[in-house]
Amino acid sequence: MSERLRVLVVEDSEDDAELVALELQRGGYDPICQRVERAECMIRAIDGGTWDLIVSDYSMPELMAPEALGIAQRMAPEIPFIVVSGTVGEQAAVACMLAGARDYLSKMNLARLSAAVARELEGARDRRNREQELERLVERLRRSNEELEQFAYVASHDLQEPLRMVTSYMELFAAEYHNRFDDRADKYIQFAVEGARRMKSLIDDLLEYSRVSSCGKPPTLCATGDVVDAELELLAETLEESKVSVVRGELPDLYADRGQLGQVFRNLISNAIKFRRGASPRIEISAGQVGEMWRFSVADDGIGIEADYAKRIFEMFQRLHDRDVYEGSGIGLTITKRIVERHGGRIWVESTHGVGSKFIFELPRAVENADENHEP
Ligand code: ADP
Repeated sequence: MSERLRVLVVEDSEDDAELVALELQRGGYDPICQRVERAECMIRAIDGGTWDLIVSDYSMPELMAPEALGIAQRMAPEIPFIVVSGTVGEQAAVACMLAGARDYLSKMNLARLSAAVARELEGARDRRNREQELERLVERLRRSNEELEQFAYVASHDLQEPLRMVTSYMELFAAEYHNRFDDRADKYIQFAVEGARRMKSLIDDLLEYSRVSSCGKPPTLCATGDVVDAELELLAETLEESKVSVVRGELPDLYADRGQLGQVFRNLISNAIKFRRGASPRIEISAGQVGEMWRFSVADDGIGIEADYAKRIFEMFQRLHDRDVYEGSGIGLTITKRIVERHGGRIWVESTHGVGSKFIFELPRAVENADENHEP
């Protein structure tokens, strides 16, 4: 049985359209053709029908192939578009192929049409299969991410209660039985209390991380300057104590989850303070436009990061220093990265060890919906 083929023929000559149909029949197809010769009819036909193929003449009184191709590319780029022309000018042929036409045939040599159609249909089928496979993979990835997030949330949430018991009873034990045993026993108790406290802080961090998505808010228009000023206000005492001066440049308005945007700056500024160097440390916050993105930077003249570690610092619980030198759990930048990515952006660091670090992140200038822009 011959394969049914729905063909939109963009052609001013009824006879030539008939020839196309005959040629396809000869090639073993059962073509159902609709002929159009003006742009608006073509638009209506694509809008209202399902097509396997578009065959277009090159030159018609009211429509030229490049324009027809433009319409097809805009409305249905997946439908193979073949140009069939009376006279095939080399330049015109090349221009059409570059613009997305799948083939360019001479009307004198229509016998090639069926072979070209067979090849295109095969190609279209392959593309569809690949797209479906990709969609399946993306869906699987999305589901697995969701499960992982759910797991992180449930695990960290449910671990809190038993840990709270361990911590409080250990603390009680330490308080009531202090000096009742020997020094070694007191030391062991102290280790256990510290371990439990540390575990609590890790679990709190994990919970905070898992909440970036689950508790994220839809984007609203934020004045980044105000967001940063509010964070600086909260950090005012620390800034004064550590004698850090902050220079804040002009910052743009953009769509974001305001709370999370503040958290990004808070984490970066706090780190710049924590890892400061010298007597009069300085932090510079600025922004500029790069294509479709706003590029922000938080730069310091602190201790810097060794090149080998620069990538790792965005991973969970990765730290370069001992806790007794610099406190922290190593999740701040992981959360920062997750927030930036949730908003459709990216973050990286440029740093010279012993000189300073510049954390740079980009956020889209137009964000319709933060989650749509990132969630895998
Ligand atoms: P934490 O600050 O709790 O250790 P982060 O995830 O915020 O965790 O940072 C991870 C590591 O990256 C830090 O331990 C530090 O080694 C390095 N780092 C982050 N910010 C800076 C900075 N501004 N200057 C130097 N090192 C930094």
